[in-house]
This record gives sequence, C-alpha cells and structure tokens, in this order.
Amino acid sequence: MKAAIITIGDELLIGQTVDTNSAWMGAEMSKAGFDVYRMTSIHDRREDIIYALHEAAGKTDVVLITGGLGPTSDDITKQTLCEFFNTRLVTDDEVLRMIESMMSRRNFPMNENNRRQAEVPESCKVLQNATGTAPGMWFEKDGTIFISMPGVPYEMKHIMTEHVLPELNKLFTSQIIIHRNIMTYGTFEAKLAEMLTGFEAGLPENIKLAYLPASGVIKLRLTGTGTEHEPLSNLINDQVNNLYKLIPDFIYGENEESLEMIIGKLLKEKNITVSTAESCTGGEIAHMLTSVPGSSAYYKGTVVAYANSVKTQLLGVQKDIIEKNGAVSEKVVQEMANGARNLFKTEFAVATSGIAGPDGGTEAKPVGTVWIAVASEKGIVTEKRVFGNDRITNIKRFSLAALNLLRKQIINS
Ligand code: AMP
Ligand code: MG
Repeated sequence: MKAAIITIGDELLIGQTVDTNSAWMGAEMSKAGFDVYRMTSIHDRREDIIYALHEAAGKTDVVLITGGLGPTSDDITKQTLCEFFNTRLVTDDEVLRMIESMMSRRNFPMNENNRRQAEVPESCKVLQNATGTAPGMWFEKDGTIFISMPGVPYEMKHIMTEHVLPELNKLFTSQIIIHRNIMTYGTFEAKLAEMLTGFEAGLPENIKLAYLPASGVIKLRLTGTGTEHEPLSNLINDQVNNLYKLIPDFIYGENEESLEMIIGKLLKEKNITVSTAESCTGGEIAHMLTSVPGSSAYYKGTVVAYANSVKTQLLGVQKDIIEKNGAVSEKVVQEMANGARNLFKTEFAVATSGIAGPDGGTEAKPVGTVWIAVASEKGIVTEKRVFGNDRITNIKRFSLAALNLLRKQIINS
C-alpha cells in the first residue's frame, strides 16, 4: 500500500508557509498502514501540477493533494485537475447550499467567487467540507486514487478524518504498522549505534530501528510491519525488552515523554516536591518543569541566582566559598542546592552553575563547563559536565543534564 503526498502553493516553496500538511498526513497515513514513499511540494503552476500527477498515476495506490483550491486567480488546482482527468467543472448543488448558508450565517452576500467555489470536476466524488468553502475531491485513474483537499490545515484535517481515512480503511485491508519510541539520554548517537550493533543485526526482517536525535535526547524508533496486530505487537515488545537489557542506563522513557514529564510522574508517585536554584541556566529548568501540566503538585519554585550577591543573599551561599572556589564549582552548587531546599522546603533541590559562553572560559574551566548538584535528605550528589561553545545549546544541555541527575536521584530515593 503505497501513498504519495503533493502539496501545492507558491508560499511553500519560498519558505513563507511551513508545509505542516505533509507531516500530518504522513503520520496519519503511516498509522493507517500506508507506506508514504514520497512528498512533493510544487508551485501553483499548471505544468508542475500535471507533471506531479502523471508521475504518481499508476505507481501509487493513493495520492493526497492539498492547496490551490481558493477562489482567487492564483489557485488553479481545480482547473488543472479537470484537464488531467479530462472532465469539466459543474456546479454541485449541495456544496452551493453549504456555501450559501455559511455566507448568510456570517451576513455576507454571495459573490461570483463564492459561486465558483461550488464548482467541482464532473468526474469526482465530492467530499463535503463543513469547515470551509472548498470541498475535497476524490478521483480515480489508472488504479490510483487521487484526493484533492484545501491547503488550510484544519480544513484538510477535517476532510481527512471525516471522509478520507475512514474510506481508505474500508478499501484497503490494511497492512499493520506499529511504531514504538524508546527515549534515551546520556550518550551520543554514534556511541549508541556502537552499543546496538548486535541488536540491530539480530532484528527480525519486519522490524526496523531508527535513531532520531533531537537536542540532547535520542529517540530510538522501532517500526514493525505485519498483518496481525497481536503477534506484531509481541514481537516488538520482545525487542523493546532487549533494549532495556542492553542500555538500561540510557533509557528514561517511551514515546514522546520528556525528562521533565518522567520527573513529574516520579515525584507525583512518591508525593514529594522539588525546587531549583539556577545560575547559568537562568530559569530554563524551572521553565521545563513547569511546562508539564499538573506540575504545581510537585514543583515549588526557583531562584535565578545569576549574580553572586543573589547566591549569598537568597540562597545563603557563603561569600568566602565563592571567593575561594569560584562561582562555577562543586562547593558553590552544593551550597546553592542546600539553600534552595531550605528556602522552598522541598524534598529535592537542583542547582546549576556553569559557563554558557561564548566568553568567560578559562583553561581550568572552559566554556561549556557546568556543575550540577541535587540535594535531598540522603545528602548531595554532584556532577561536572563539559559541553560545547554555543550559549543557547549549552543552556539546554546543562538543563537536560541537571534534570537527568535529578531523575536518577529520585529513582534511588
Ligand atoms: P489554498 O488552499 O492554497 O488556498 O491554501 C490556503 C492556506 O492554507 C494558505 O494560505 C496557507 O496558509 C495554508 N497552507 C497551504 N498549504 C499548506 C501546507 N502544505 N501546510 C500548511 N499550510 C498550508
Ligand atoms: Mg494557495
């Protein structure tokens, strides 16, 4: 079951509009068991549209097309579809009635453009659009189904979920595709690939492994294809279990879970709280923790202790400790974490102090150095990490490292 996606619109090719339609349709079609083998974005240009349609006809089971269905002269998809399918435009009474009622509800008079919206190619099956004026259109040629939809994302999604996906589901006895995402933190892609060489080589034919790194976290995606859900699901489960045995220190969660979500779950389960004291991360950790819905149950607050005076005045770090060790030091983060834990009266507190860069590094403490401390009733655990030179990336990396240290300490508590 092969599918292709064609998105039409000048704005897509000049980077004015990001093609989110392809991503959404790709995900939905993949879930429905289709192999989406190509995505193409083209101009609102007759020759390009005809070429793209020809290219897909006969080679693909389904082609999804969006864009170019507006009433203005730059949108030419409908006329071009008529040419390709050798048919003509006729007024669809039901679409016309929908547009008339939509216009009268909004108190707008009907004009020529609105009436043109109700014209559809004679040979297509019309897919009604309750969210806008341009309907979807379903064609078949040379064994390929072509479906044209408006470019407006919510209108496309409406037509896809109401008409297209249920219809395709009926027509194609689906091949099943199951994805499982295993979230890892703490190592880099090349190292992970090295650790998993044997695992990958031993995977069954119908299971594939992909590495999807994104800002410090690497998602391992297992994709299985088959015809029956349960055996396929069991087969993937076995492989996931193998992964847990092979890289236990790096797996922190599954699917789209973030470190902060996992921390939230752990804290809720244990009914305990956390606070933060952030120098170099400037509130990033607080932001990440509070991005999780329900975080008020376990997160108390932060002190952005950027200046040394704040470290001493609000967190009680002793001046001479800073003078003797420097602000970026194990002693200072320990004191910061203790200070936050006392101030906010939380079971856990996390502190960071580092050099985000691009300036301020020394030979002993280069840019990218961070000290992290996690304080709890069991004592204080610290970690020193050294990352790169880019300030914003460093802030993100420091925060992830701090969250991961916190996660481990909560698990061990
Ligand atoms: P159209 O159907 O060409 O009139 O498209 C209407 C609007 O939908 C455009 O102005 C874009 O803002 C948006 N749009 C069109 N194509 C896409 C796409 N592939 N992804 C996201 N938005 C789109
Ligand atoms: Mg357009």
